[in-house]
Amino acid sequence: MTINEEMKKRRTFAIISHPDAGKTTMTEKLLLFGNLIRSAGTVKGKKSGKFATSDWMEIEKQRGISVTSSVMNFPYQGYQVNILDTPGHEDFSEDTYRTLTAVDSVVMIIDATKGIEAQTLKLFKVCKMRGIPIFTFINKLDREGREPLELLEEIEEVLDIQTCPMSWPAGMGKRFLGTFDRYGKQFIQYNGNEDETYIPYDDLDKPAYSDLVSNPTYEAANDELALVEEAGDDFSLEAVLSGEQTPVFFGSALAPFGVQNFFDTFISMAPAPAPRKSTEGVISPDNPDFSGFVFKIQANMNPAHRDRVAFLRVCSGKFERGMNVKLARTGKPIKLAQSQQFVASDRDTIEEAYAGDIIGVYDPNAYQIGDTLLEGKNLFEYQELPQFPPEQFQRVTAKNVMKAKQFKKGIEQLVQEGAIQLYKHYRSESYILGAVGELQFEVFQYRMRNEYNVEVMLEPIGERVPRWLRAEQVEPSMYDERNLLVRDRSDNYVVLFKNDFSLNWFKDNHPDIELIDLFDVN
Ligand code: GDP
Repeated sequence: MTINEEMKKRRTFAIISHPDAGKTTMTEKLLLFGNLIRSAGTVKGKKSGKFATSDWMEIEKQRGISVTSSVMNFPYQGYQVNILDTPGHEDFSEDTYRTLTAVDSVVMIIDATKGIEAQTLKLFKVCKMRGIPIFTFINKLDREGREPLELLEEIEEVLDIQTCPMSWPAGMGKRFLGTFDRYGKQFIQYNGNEDETYIPYDDLDKPAYSDLVSNPTYEAANDELALVEEAGDDFSLEAVLSGEQTPVFFGSALAPFGVQNFFDTFISMAPAPAPRKSTEGVISPDNPDFSGFVFKIQANMNPAHRDRVAFLRVCSGKFERGMNVKLARTGKPIKLAQSQQFVASDRDTIEEAYAGDIIGVYDPNAYQIGDTLLEGKNLFEYQELPQFPPEQFQRVTAKNVMKAKQFKKGIEQLVQEGAIQLYKHYRSESYILGAVGELQFEVFQYRMRNEYNVEVMLEPIGERVPRWLRAEQVEPSMYDERNLLVRDRSDNYVVLFKNDFSLNWFKDNHPDIELIDLFDVN
């Protein structure tokens, strides 16, 4: 197969959701389709330690969670599927956001009983700002939830995106009969016990289905559907691919119901790897020269060797194990000797990979997040990864002042690697760390001790709302402990507002001062 044919088969996506919406349950069903697991319940086993081989760091073992966003891949109906895991719960971190820079589309799972929740909103914003196509699965229809029309309205309003229901549910909870598959022009009947019947619209007037179509729940849904067909936005693949419209599917990941139909439709519509912007213009994924960028670095995967693995998203050409590439930032040659592909729990060595694939390469302490690796004459770099707004902040000091030098070195390296963000008080050199998730502080403390032999003291200053300031508008006397003025790594001024209330109060009283939200500038 040619590079172009291989590339076109790739479907690389992430599933985003709020904890408990059903991401694990859905992932498990998809892995069953891909024959990666044989029975349901396997993925959940991760939490009980069955997947011990993936517990790379001690922290992972202690907490029984996976620090890394792993990658699952399998062939499916002629496609090569790559699912990138986006950690949630306490292991939510900047890596979760960065993972979204490495995918070509996203599946958003919404719990029908709850609607849009905080974490979904944050992850959605990243997808939106990057124009990533988003496919929505409204989950838990086997329970009494909110009205479908109301859920669609909420998506449109809160997320500011057009919705196009691809399916329409008839009832929910105990009354749940199934869904109208608008796209496939069939009614998918829910029979319970992992069983569903596909009834083409044309067959619905047959006597066999008279009970179904005369059921009041069916009739009500049919009326609603007519309304949706009239008033709703028309489906437009173009609008979906540009991130302006999200196709919405209804079902239950647990039952499972509507999952196969959703996945088949999704996989046929989801985009293959697209051209990506670089310093030398747009690079096509079928460009014969290999290129890719590092979106994540995992340290200490094997404590005995202290090795680091860089996660690389392949963007063009063909990767071959042992190939010689260049690190664009320095122009230096590097041999990609050890490579791994991440298949659920195991790290398998891979021989080749194409645009859309994710590979793990051994990092001889040379890579930084966002680095471009490539072959060919042209040295270019892919667009810088965006900076994501941290939410939690802690002051950091070395326990032993004699270790100031190692302390500084450790912090500098970990910050450069993207493990955590660093801020300084606006006029002193005191350090404040910023993170998207609590776990980043734990990893930081652990690595400072293990890799730099420095015990650090962390003093939380709480969840804060950061806003960037224009240099000419900085007036230090306006800020205090409550709304703390600091500098970021590039010496831009940032105010860490105590909370949304403080932020809004400030906005009302100083309407002339421009406060910049990172979500809006990236
Ligand atoms: P995650 O935190 O998003 O990975 O969510 P999980 O997949 O772990 O699901 C959270 C809980 O919701 C679990 O108890 C699941 O069994 C349950 N759940 C997931 N999908 C469904 C569904 O379609 N219907 C119902 N009733 N429960 C579900």
